[in-house]
Amino acid sequence: MSGAAATAACPLCATDGGTVLWRDGRLRVVAVDDADYPGFLRVIWDTHVREMSELDAAARVHLMEVVFAVESAVRRVLAPDKINLASLGNVVPHLHWHVIARYADDAHFPDPVWGVRRRDPDPARLAAQRAKRPELHRVVAEMLQASGFSPVPAEAGAGGDADREQNPPHSAD
Ligand SMILES: [Zn+2]
Repeated sequence: MSGAAATAACPLCATDGGTVLWRDGRLRVVAVDDADYPGFLRVIWDTHVREMSELDAAARVHLMEVVFAVESAVRRVLAPDKINLASLGNVVPHLHWHVIARYADDAHFPDPVWGVRRRDPDPARLAAQRAKRPELHRVVAEMLQASGFSPVPAEAGAGGDADREQNPPHSAD
């Protein structure tokens, strides 16, 4: 990440926050490595902004269109029982949306994924969905491209510590 406007203590300024599937110079879409949730993606605004209302109207629309394209890709590939969209930022106050495929037998359903764990999900279902992740990641990029959004090359000219990638656990937020 470019460090100019970075907040030193902010993990979403210091790292990508997951495996980057897409970036367009304003935001990035990342896959979160979560053992319980193979269909857990985030759409993260690149600059350190706290609230949606700090973005101008065009930026807000752009962010949400990307969130909805990611939601559509998750639905198409993983056919979840429900999609959870969430923007909290209480722990990491850097604008990001969670897009999470939920299933009636997942670890926390019907609670949010940040709630109390209720059960161990079926390992066969998790394995089958993990196997679909490469397809999911490809479909995310295809659907964003089909929406007319242009990607920019990853880390074009940006310094920093992209090699020190971290995937903070979802319980961090
Ligand atoms: Zn930040």
